[in-house]
Amino acid sequence: MNHHARPNMPALDSYWMPFTANRQFKQAPRLLASASGMYYADMDGRCVLDGTAGLWCVNAGHGRREIASAVERQLMTLDYAPSFQMGHPIAFEFAERLAAIAPGPEGQKLDRVFFTGSGSESVDTALKIAVAYQRAIGQGTRTRLIGRERGYHGVGFGGISVGGLVNNRRVFPTLPGTDHLRHTHDIARNAFTKDGLPKHGAELADDLERLVALHGTETIAAVIVEPVAGSTGVLLPPEGYLQRLREIATRHGILLIFDEVITGFGRLGSPFATDHFGVVPDLVTTAKGLTNGVIPMGAVFAGRHVHDALMHGPENAIELFHGYTYSGHPAACAAGLATLDIYESEGLLTRAGDLAAHWAKAMHALADAPHVVDVRTIGLVAGIELQPRDGAPGTRAYDVFTECLARGLLIRVTGDIIALSPPLIVEAGQIDEMAATLADVIDATA
Ligand code: PMP
Repeated sequence: MNHHARPNMPALDSYWMPFTANRQFKQAPRLLASASGMYYADMDGRCVLDGTAGLWCVNAGHGRREIASAVERQLMTLDYAPSFQMGHPIAFEFAERLAAIAPGPEGQKLDRVFFTGSGSESVDTALKIAVAYQRAIGQGTRTRLIGRERGYHGVGFGGISVGGLVNNRRVFPTLPGTDHLRHTHDIARNAFTKDGLPKHGAELADDLERLVALHGTETIAAVIVEPVAGSTGVLLPPEGYLQRLREIATRHGILLIFDEVITGFGRLGSPFATDHFGVVPDLVTTAKGLTNGVIPMGAVFAGRHVHDALMHGPENAIELFHGYTYSGHPAACAAGLATLDIYESEGLLTRAGDLAAHWAKAMHALADAPHVVDVRTIGLVAGIELQPRDGAPGTRAYDVFTECLARGLLIRVTGDIIALSPPLIVEAGQIDEMAATLADVIDATA
């Protein structure tokens, strides 16, 4: 059922695409054929400005020669080695380099690193480490995992269970012993907050006290939140919310996990959201920007107290029965090391902070465009929320998405929220171009 006459278009039938309306897509396929710097090119060679860093991951921009060369060198030196019971140098080297920039202040850095293959695997790993930690410190009744409404933590059974998206949950069984904090998204009180975080809603962290009272402290292992919820529409934490969540979790012996799969590696203007907000969790999940998105990889950063608690028992015993064939994959570590070199030499872990004021001004100028009900920005992220069409939610933003693409700008939409997160190498002029295209398109599709 492929309706494509173009000679360079591949056959479309066999590839079952993820999170995509496959049948609709294959009627009118959108394919990206190559990429360099801030731009993709489509099958006709037309340039498309990357307003989303791929899927929030290509932080150093596309086609970085240094990364490609490092991966090739590594593959020709050691392409693969067993990840269990055996080691290889580059995994240790990468973990040491990551430890130096790990989330948290000096002296409290979460500098013990467990490698995974993706964000979803990082989430499942962190949840399992949390439960294992509680058991290791004599709190074996603590197995309950708390997430938050409107949270996205990938698609593993652990991730969808703590996640708060009905579409990801309704068809599948979820883990018993999970529950959710209320979400913090409140346009009525916080729309168009211009400088800083939403002013209202810190008290929503007290919802953890409600769950403690409901389930009993001694049943809860961990609470996981995205410091800034990305995939569900760029939802910023109300001022003071994360601090309060930290205090309550500490008071009740509950581990706090920040899911930094999106916010990690410079997106907010600090290396991690942990640093940006000055709130230190016990575990941090990452992926995406870890390798500039070019080789699949994730990493969980653990505080030493968590790690060390699990390093007990008989000398010759495996401390944590968990891991992946591709944990610390040599090619991914090579990509990660070369990515870190670029981040550090080009100042990309803090560059979003330098551009944040310009970014915020450009994006908030869209507040007057038709049907815009909120604009939210932080670092180099923006969420522009549109009023849904009566009876046809999602269609307004989808129209904006397709028209932007026709005009050479790639954006992301989730429901009626437009999300922007360009590579961190973006120039001020390209930010202005994105804002101008969006303004025109929102007008034209209104
Ligand atoms: N957690 C968060 C916060 C994410 O944004 C994502 C992906 N968008 C994931 C987990 C899952 O990552 P992956 O798709 O690599 O499994």
